[in-house]
Amino acid sequence: MLVIAMDGPSGSGKSSAAKGVARALGLRYLDTGAMYRAMTWWMLGHGVPVEDAAAVAARAAEPVIVSGTDPDAPAITVDGEDVSAPIRTREVTNAVSAVSSVPAVRARMVELQREIIGAGGIVVEGRDIGTVVAPDAPVKVFLTASEEARAMRRAKDLAADPGASVTVTRAEQARRDRLDSTRAASPLTRAGGAHEIDSTELSLAEVIEAVVRLAKEHE
Ligand code: C5P
Repeated sequence: MLVIAMDGPSGSGKSSAAKGVARALGLRYLDTGAMYRAMTWWMLGHGVPVEDAAAVAARAAEPVIVSGTDPDAPAITVDGEDVSAPIRTREVTNAVSAVSSVPAVRARMVELQREIIGAGGIVVEGRDIGTVVAPDAPVKVFLTASEEARAMRRAKDLAADPGASVTVTRAEQARRDRLDSTRAASPLTRAGGAHEIDSTELSLAEVIEAVVRLAKEHE
């Protein structure tokens, strides 16, 4: 069954596009970033110093993270608690790169992700889906956008947060992308065979259409 791997930096429009593709093709949807955010939320809530890789690794097996795969209602729980909202706070966003760089965290997440992907029929978005989680995915997309466009999108997402000006968001996002792209374990990088789509000048509908076209070519 079809697996569509969609990787790219923050603010590239991955989440909206991946959900749209899943809806258009009647596939399931998995947001792997939400899983790393859930792990980070749990670490912060349990007083684990997130910059201390050994401390994070020592507790990485504890939280029970369950991800839904409905593109219309992507749910995520940690130890039974719905964390869809708290995982989007700036506190979590600014701590997630440190947590996701820990190999013990990645090993656990990748195992969970492969279980969910199972026989396929799913659109999976993240940073290492085409390279590590599902290297055999028949359709791989690397979604990019200019730094400016990505910061604008992020600021819109965070409009309710008074501290999240475009300037602050841009600096925080640049830092996160730098950490995600330069870490030793599964850095964000374009997978071999991935189709690069630059969404700077494209509408969401156009990005979805481009991915759906790629998927149909592989049928
Ligand atoms: O996609 P999102 O911005 O929600 O991802 C949050 C963070 O989770 C990323 O900045 C990255 O550190 C981590 N991540 C990852 N591998 C993935 C997905 C997300 O390391 N497959």
